[in-house]
Parts: sequence; structure tokens; C-alpha cells
Amino acid sequence: MKIRYKIVIGIIVSLVAFNSIFSVFFIFYQNKNEHARLNAKIRDTNLLIEKTTADALWNIDKNRIELGLKSFLMDSEISGIDLNDALGINNFSYRKEEFTNFYLTPSPRILRMENEVIGKITVYYNDSVIQEKQNSFLVVMAVITLSMILLSTLVLMRISNKILSPLEVLVDGLKRVDEGDYSHRIHVKTKDEFKLIETYFNRMSRKIQKEFEDRIKREEELERAKLAAEKASNAKGYFLSSMSHEIRTPLTVIIGLIEIMEFTNLDEEQKKYLKRLSSSSAALLDLINEVLDFSRIESGKIDLYPQELSLEDLLESVVDSFILAAQAKNLEIYYFLDNNVPEMIISDRGRLRQILMNLISNAIKFTKEGEIYIIIKKIFEKERKIQLEFSISDTGIGIPKDSMDDIFLNYNRGQSNYTKTQSGTGLGLPIVKKLVELLGGSISVESEENQGSTFYFTINAEIPTLENRNSGNICLEGSRALLVDDNPTHLAILRTMLREEKIDVIDIPDAASAINFLRKGKDVQFILTDFQMPHINGLEFSRMVKEDLQITNIPIIVYSAQTHDIDRSQNPSISEIITKPIKKSKLIDVIKNTIQCEKIHIWKDMKKENKPEIIMDKQKFTILLAEDNDMNRETTSILLRNEGYSVESAENGKMAIQIYKKNRPSLVLMDIQMPEMDGYEATRAIRELEKGTEFHVPIIALTAFALKITQEEAKKSGMDDFIAKPVIPSELFKRIAYHLSIS
Ligand code: ADP
Repeated sequence: MKIRYKIVIGIIVSLVAFNSIFSVFFIFYQNKNEHARLNAKIRDTNLLIEKTTADALWNIDKNRIELGLKSFLMDSEISGIDLNDALGINNFSYRKEEFTNFYLTPSPRILRMENEVIGKITVYYNDSVIQEKQNSFLVVMAVITLSMILLSTLVLMRISNKILSPLEVLVDGLKRVDEGDYSHRIHVKTKDEFKLIETYFNRMSRKIQKEFEDRIKREEELERAKLAAEKASNAKGYFLSSMSHEIRTPLTVIIGLIEIMEFTNLDEEQKKYLKRLSSSSAALLDLINEVLDFSRIESGKIDLYPQELSLEDLLESVVDSFILAAQAKNLEIYYFLDNNVPEMIISDRGRLRQILMNLISNAIKFTKEGEIYIIIKKIFEKERKIQLEFSISDTGIGIPKDSMDDIFLNYNRGQSNYTKTQSGTGLGLPIVKKLVELLGGSISVESEENQGSTFYFTINAEIPTLENRNSGNICLEGSRALLVDDNPTHLAILRTMLREEKIDVIDIPDAASAINFLRKGKDVQFILTDFQMPHINGLEFSRMVKEDLQITNIPIIVYSAQTHDIDRSQNPSISEIITKPIKKSKLIDVIKNTIQCEKIHIWKDMKKENKPEIIMDKQKFTILLAEDNDMNRETTSILLRNEGYSVESAENGKMAIQIYKKNRPSLVLMDIQMPEMDGYEATRAIRELEKGTEFHVPIIALTAFALKITQEEAKKSGMDDFIAKPVIPSELFKRIAYHLSIS
């Protein structure tokens, strides 16, 4: 409701209320006064009548009585008079015709003459006069009230034009500004405070309008800058991938030539230089891979390829690739999967591997002595969705508190002297962080300087529906093992692995105490012992058990990081040797074999099972190498020949097809980018030629563009495999051998 209506209603209500209350009080007060006056008048009148009529009544002078009484009837408030003598003979009664309501005096007055009752007088009064007075008062009050209402409404109308109209203008102005019309200005006609409000309002809306226009301008500029930045970023990505392509090509030649030179006659110094050359080119390759990866992640070009994978296999293969590096620094490396971690999950194997490789290589790089352990735990599982936590702990140099937040930022390398001596780009952890986020998780680090670091990361994965889990090892259940290891972490990991299989474990941290334990005739089904232990090592301990204690019926399994250190023939007391780090399934298999237990439903890696035996007479196989770069062609040809294959080479796709038609090679290594006819087209042509025949020559794509899209394109054109340049000779040979053996 508008203010002006509110004010009008308010005034009317208060006027009516005030006047009504006033009238009620006034009428009440006036009524009281009037009745008091009337009573006094009645008393006076009675006295006067007594005085004027007593004598006439005594003398029974009717004329005088009539005259006297009628003169009293002149009074408008007296409506009748009765006069009776004491004997009741002479009665006089006068009434005014117009009055019907008679107001009786409180009591008739007795008339006396010289103390003798001579009669009685009764006067009738009427109060209609009082009524009339009240009515006219009410009429006056009503008129006053109405006029006040009228007046105040008129005044208000006048005032509202002065006060409320500018207020309405202001309200309208605010509404327009609120709706985004910042160009709106208000104008009021008065010259009072509203003029000031007008000035401030207009000043304010002018400012807002300017701010708004500036903001729009800034946003436009920002949008332009963003587009330019995106363009630059795309250009950077394109530049990086082109550069990496350009660098990969000569790098292939360098790596190949280094490999070839290793087979030539070199003196010691040359061998030393060659080794450095080899490690530098490997580092360069890592660098290029990281830069390429980083640019792809930055531009959001990373796609995930979820697949079923065995976590234990993945960990084993990752850790395997670090065994030598860890041994070189005398570091122990363990891994452990919580019992409730599923054997198989669905995730991107390549990306998970990349994350683990990065974190483990950092752990080894920044640890001078001690151990590295990797633990996988399940955080939650719901309807086949699972969250896993990986932790990679080391006992290395640690990370200073102030750089802990920065290590996940781009190009951030630690500032310590030790860090500076280590190779690295500072891109590893930012890449890891992005990859972890791609896998639906997060990464964090806990570290204490000179104590070590633990990197935690989580991933979200799925559990495949048809999972063939290890269904338990009934024969091991309830058996008792003696576990001897001086390293408490390793002891704890093995103890947990064994207890998960319901094996009763007695763990003892040194061989001497273990001997004492056995000497007391304690019963165990098998002994599991570390090789490297202070004072008495694993071998000596086994010998003591078998020879000194004469316990021959308990199998002893020894584990060591360097199994080649142990000569089985010289140590008949040992039943089995396991290489560290110990994979649980391998450990359980070995234990079951040693204690002659039936294998019960252990999950098998189908890919491993299907792996063909690769033993062949390589000379029989001709490899067609299609490659336009002379240096690359030459290097790869030499490498292949050194490996024992016959090689034919082609400079482009067209030549490759001709050679294929003529010589029917056993396998084709096909470069993708070639003049005249590229690798895709040549492959399509070869597959066309094979149509309707039984032939299917394995074609492996070789390309410096290590992008997934290239891989997919290669597959579509009919290629069987894909190798990214620079080609690592050992990898190339493995792939060739594999394809030859299955074709
Ligand atoms: P770099 O290629 O330099 O190793 P990263 O991104 O992998 O790059 O690591 C960034 C920095 O984080 C390293 O230079 C190092 O200072 C620190 N850092 C990473 N991992 C560890 C670790 N396990 N122990 C100590 N410092 C580490």
C-alpha cells in the first residue's frame, strides 16, 4: 500500500478514535452536571411553589393557585404539577400536552402552615432537554470530525505532492537502477532535502554506470586476452609436440647408434664415454616425454583408457624396473597391498603406472639410505565403486616445511643442495598431481627433513564384475611359520601377508634368538628368513638349523634383494629363494610348493599365461623397414641385422608396397609420416592386397608423435602395434619377437 494511503487511513482512524473518546467522556461529564443542576432546580422550585401556593391553598383561592402553578409551567423543564390538600378534596393537576415522559421528583413535597400539614405538591420534570443537548453535541462533534478528516486529507494531498512525489520519483529511480538501467537519472521539483537526495542519487548512478561500463570493457579485454592466451597455449602445445617430434627423430638415431657402438671394439675410456652418452640420451628422452606429457595435460588433451588390471602385477612390474636402481644405492624396496584391496580393478593402467613410476623414482632419487615402501589401502567400496589410497614412503632427505606446498607447482624443484645435484625438470609432481586428479583422486605429502617423506594419493576405480579372486589357501590355514628379519617394516609387512592367509606367525628379529626358539623344540611348519641380517645371515642361519640343530624336516625359504648372491648348490639347507620385493601371491605359491600343498584357485594373469615362448631362428625372418629418414633407416637396419634379422628397407609407402608384393616380408616396421605415401595409406593398401588370402603381415607403426590419436589412427588403418620414437632397441626387439611368434 502506498504511503499516502497509509497516512490518510492513519489520520482518519486516529481522528475518529480521538473524537469518539472525547465525546464519550464529554457526554458522561455533561450528563452528570445536568442531572445535578436539575436536582438543585427541583429543590429550589419546590420551595418556591410552597411559598407561593401555601397561603392560597389554605384559603382555597383556586384562581391564585391556578395562576401560580401555571406560571411555573412556563419553565421548559417542568412538564406538570400536582397539588393536593391534606383532606384530598381540592386537587389541582396541570400537564404540558407535548410531553409524554415525566420525570418524577425524588419525593413529593409536604406543604405546611404553622406546623400543620395542609397538602402535598408533586412537580414533574422532563429530561428531554438534556437528551437534546447531548444529541446536538454529538452532531457538532460529528461535523467537527468530518471537517477535520476533510481538512487533513486536503492538507495531506497538498503535502504529499511536496514530500511523497519526490519519494516516489526516488523509488522509481532505485527500481530502474536495480533492473540494470544505470543511465537513469531522477529529477525532483522541490528545493529541499529531496534536491540533495536527487544530487546524490544521480552522482551514485553515474558512478555505477561508469564502473559497469569499465567492467564490461575489462571483461571484453579479458575475453580477448583469454582467447589470445588459449591461442598461444595451443600454439605452445603444437610447438612442444612438433619440437618433441623433431627431437625424437635424431634421438632415435643417437640411441640406436649408441646401441650399435656397444657391439664394436672400444677401449675402456670410450666405453665410459659411451655409457655417459647412453645415460644422457635416456635422460633427454625422459625430459622430452615429460615436456610432452605436461603440454598435453595443460591443454586437456589427455584421455583415460580404463581397463582391467591387477594391482599386484602392476606394482610388481613398476617395482621391478627400479630394483637395479635401488640396489645400486643399497636401498630396500617393499610393497604391500591390504587384504581388502581387490585383486583386479578397472582403471587407466598407463596413467597409474606413470604416477607410481614418478613417485618411486623420486623416492629413490632423494633417499641415500634406508628403505622405500609402497602400501595400497582401500578407503571405501560401494556398489563396485572403490577408492584406493596409495602411499609411497621413503627414509630420504625429506622436504622442508616451507617448500611442501610448492612442490606440486609447475617447474618447482627443491632448493636444497642435494636436490640441486639431482637431475630433474620439476615437472614430475605437477604431472602426477594432474594425473591423480584425472583418476578422480587427490595427492598430498607428509615429510620431515632428514627423516623421509610419504606421498599419499587416492584414485577412484571400479571393481570388474567377473573377478576371480584368490579364494583362500585352505592347506595353509592354521599352519605355523617362523619369520626371521632384522628390518621391522619388512617383518611387519610379511607378518601381515602371512596372517591374512590365517598362518600363525612367530616373528623374531635376529637369527640367534630364532635358533634359541627352535632349540626349545618349538613346532613350526616352515621358516621364512631374510638373507641380509647382521651377525648371522640367512644362509648361515639355515645351515645352523639343518646341521647344528639337526632339524631337517622344516623347509627354509630365504629371501634376498640379490638372489644371484646365493649359490643354491652350495646351500642345500635352503628349500627356496625369493627375490625382494616380495609379491604376496608369489610368496604364497612358493610356501605352498615347499610344504607340498595343492594349489587352490589362484588368480592368473591371462596375458601372462598367453605369452608365447619366443625362441626362433631370426635369420629366417625378413623385416621390411619403411622409413623416410636416411639416418633412422640406416640405424634401425643395423640394429635389426645385429639382432639377427634380414632387413629390407623402403623410403616411402609406395616402395614398401612394392617390396611387400615382391618379397612377402615376415613383419613391417612402418613409419607414419613419409613422402609420396604415408604409413596409414600404405598399410591400408597392404591390407587390401591381403584380402581373400590367409596372409596377415604384422605391421608395427613407428612414429615420433606419441599421441593417443595417432595410435588410434594407426589401429584403424590396419596396423597391429605401435612404437613411439625414439625407439628403445630392447623394446623394439621384444615387440618384433612377440608378433613374429604369434603370426
Ligand atoms: P624433479 O624432476 O625435480 O624431481 P618433481 O616434480 O618430481 O621434479 O619434484 C619436485 C621437487 O620435489 C624435487 O626437486 C624435490 O625437491 C622434491 N621432492 C619430490 N619427491 C621427493 C622425495 N621423495 N623426497 C624429497 N624431496 C622430494
